[in-house]
Amino acid sequence: MGLIDMSIIKYLIQSIIIIFTITAVFVAAFELSAPANIISKPYIVKKECLDSMKRVQGSTYFYLMEHPKFCGDITIDMLKNKGYIDRSLHACDICRDKSGYKVAYKRSGKEICYIDVICSEHGKLSRQSDEDKIKGLPKGFVNNYIARVKTKLNLY
Ligand SMILES: [Zn+2]
Repeated sequence: MGLIDMSIIKYLIQSIIIIFTITAVFVAAFELSAPANIISKPYIVKKECLDSMKRVQGSTYFYLMEHPKFCGDITIDMLKNKGYIDRSLHACDICRDKSGYKVAYKRSGKEICYIDVICSEHGKLSRQSDEDKIKGLPKGFVNNYIARVKTKLNLY
């Protein structure tokens, strides 16, 4: 390979690195400049939904702790009626239109093995770090990004 070929490759690699760097800086600038209150609507809805699901999980835990022999179904209405959760708590719109959150738990003896809360739109609370991470959000990175841009520019 001649000396000229080598320098062409070198310049090519340099250009690619520069393009990547510029793109990364733009993406980072956009992400960091987005104030928390105007992230895209799907994101806000999902975040609120997860907050609600966490509250349901916590309330279920207390209910199960205080009722060691209970092993029936847990419903949100039941937790509300018995005062374990605030009446203002509501599932996200899509889930509410269906039957609301579902609570799944397993206990063995006095021990509570797990408590999971499931939203038909956003998935399982326990799988938000992997499987259901983007459930209920616009599909794919590009659409996700567009959703955020649209919100930032108030196009929703
Ligand atoms: Zn939801």
